[in-house]
Amino acid sequence: MWRSSSFIVPGVPPVAAVFTGEAGRALLDAAAETAVLGLDEGGAPWLAADLSPLAEAQAAALMAPARAISLRRVATNLTGEEAARLAYARGLLHWHRHHRYCGACGAATESRDGGHRRVCSQPGCGAEHFPRTDPAVMILVTRAGSAAGRSDAACLLGRQPRWPPGFYSTLAGFVEPGESLEEAVIREVREEAGITVSRVRYRASQPWPFPASIMLGFRAEADQGVVIVPDPGELEDARWFTRGEIAAFHGLGLRLPTQESLARWLLDEWLAEGS
Ligand SMILES: [Zn+2]
Repeated sequence: MWRSSSFIVPGVPPVAAVFTGEAGRALLDAAAETAVLGLDEGGAPWLAADLSPLAEAQAAALMAPARAISLRRVATNLTGEEAARLAYARGLLHWHRHHRYCGACGAATESRDGGHRRVCSQPGCGAEHFPRTDPAVMILVTRAGSAAGRSDAACLLGRQPRWPPGFYSTLAGFVEPGESLEEAVIREVREEAGITVSRVRYRASQPWPFPASIMLGFRAEADQGVVIVPDPGELEDARWFTRGEIAAFHGLGLRLPTQESLARWLLDEWLAEGS
């Protein structure tokens, strides 16, 4: 890693830059921080190395022919195994870079246990710090069809002002302290879209180390007769889309979340229920 970029060797598919033997040792010597990712089948350790303190050109020269690229940009072109390995490295090294000082007393911390724990160096404090993952809920809210027919069943998608033009996605937000996941779902939908939901059901999850989240995907059903009122501080639009409208999305000049995203998975699951 160099700051928030991963070193990727371009190709089909692109792969993580991997160094072994003497080249690996040179890389470890140059690294500001290292963390053990695990062992391969033969028992050899995989380590992640952080080159962030180096100038970009210096890091790039050390890592050639690999290039520093945002994992978020390249992840969909990687194999699942490569994406997982790079996500793990990115998450761990980001945590190290942002926990070099103790949150309790401000003294420097030191890496322990192969980079999976940091300990405060101040005698009398010694606070331990562990890598953290912040849970976020992602919610596909649906509305049942009317008694007359099922074709007006719909799902709720919204868009944030900072997203690319025409892009719509599911609602999402961080879990607050002291809150259950189900409560977080109900609160987020109420805050962002102004409606109440019931029948909250967990569906699937996706790690999201940008920088330190896991997305927990839920379905929820809108209560009868609710009217969407988007929170202008969060969303510039939120509305119902029927399955027919989703099928015609591209033709309407609109864009959906990418194929590999949890948001799209939740949407595709709902679409399949209508076929
Ligand atoms: Zn401390």
